[in-house]
Amino acid sequence: MYYSRKRQPDDLPQEVTAIWSCTNEECNGWMRDNFAFSAQPRCVQCNSLMEKGERKLSILENTSPNHSKKK
Ligand SMILES: [Zn+2]
Repeated sequence: MYYSRKRQPDDLPQEVTAIWSCTNEECNGWMRDNFAFSAQPRCVQCNSLMEKGERKLSILENTSPNHSKKK
């Protein structure tokens, strides 16, 4: 009986994801922490420093090749 489960919106499921966001206020560049290759990445758009943050993102299941879902 799963009727008591909370209904999900039709939208893709989202989760809070660690990201890096650009410190340049005129730039909205950001990247997922998964894609940051160094401890202090630079913005790919304006080359400013980035700061760590969080963002609610749709869950992408094929982002990481190591994360294969069980059938
Ligand atoms: Zn930037």
